[in-house]
Amino acid sequence: MRKPVIAGNWKLFKTSEEAVDFVNSLLPLVNDINVVEIVLAPVFTVLSTVKKFVEGSGISIAAQDCFWEDEGAYTGEVSPKMLVDAGCTHVIIGHSERRQFFFETDDTINRKLKAALKGGLTAILCIGETLSEREAGETFAVLEKQITGGLSGILNEDFDHVIIAYEPVWAIGTGKTATEDQAQEAHLFIRNQISRLFGGNISDKLRILYGGSVKPENIKGLMSMPDIDGALVGGASLNARSFAAIIRYNE
Ligand code: PEP
Repeated sequence: MRKPVIAGNWKLFKTSEEAVDFVNSLLPLVNDINVVEIVLAPVFTVLSTVKKFVEGSGISIAAQDCFWEDEGAYTGEVSPKMLVDAGCTHVIIGHSERRQFFFETDDTINRKLKAALKGGLTAILCIGETLSEREAGETFAVLEKQITGGLSGILNEDFDHVIIAYEPVWAIGTGKTATEDQAQEAHLFIRNQISRLFGGNISDKLRILYGGSVKPENIKGLMSMPDIDGALVGGASLNARSFAAIIRYNE
C-alpha cells in the first residue's frame, strides 16, 4: 500500500562531471525497477544537469534545502519556485546537518516545509535524536517535538506530498546503524504521533524512511520492518553500484 522510496542525499559532493558519470552508471543498473520510487538529491548547482540526464527514467530530483520566500533580498537562498524551475519534485527539509551547522529550528523548518508544499514540491522532513538525547531517554520526546513543530499548520490534504525521514543523528555518517528493532520502534512511534495529530487515514498512508548508515548489507533487514517504507541514504548513495544495490534490496 505504501510504495517504498529510496532517496540518495549527496550532501556537499559531486561536480557536474561526477554527477553525470554517476547517473550514466546508475541508469542501466535500475532501469527495470518500478516497484521503488528513486529520488536523487544533488547539490543545487547540478540539479538541472542531473534532471536532464535522468529524463524519462522515472527518477525524481530533490534539493537538499529551500528557503521560505519565493524571491527577494535573501542573498544565498534558493526558493521552491526556483527548485521546480530546475526540475525538482522533492526537497529535503530539516536534515540534522542543517539543524546542527546552520542552526535550523523546528520553526524555520516548518516555514520551509509550508513553502515547499505551497510551491508544489514533496517535502522529505527529517527528524531524529542525538546520541545524548537517546542516552538520556529523551528519544520519543524529541521526535514528538520535531513532529509537532515541523508539521504545525499542515493540512490533511498536504500529506500526499509529505514524507518523513527518521534519522537518528548518532547513526548518520558514523557507520553505526540503528538496529532493525530500534528503527521500527521509532517509526511506529512516529506513525502513532501522526495518527494522533492527523488521523489514522493519514498515518496509514505516510511513507516513513529510515536514514543513518544504510548500506547494501543492512537495507533488506530494515525494509523487512512493518513501519519502514524506504531509506534516505547519504554515503552509500555516492556510488552507483552501492546505491543500485540498496534500490534492489528485494532481490
Ligand atoms: C543522510 O545524509 O541523510 C544520511 C543518512 O547519511 P549516511 O547514510 O551517510 O549516514
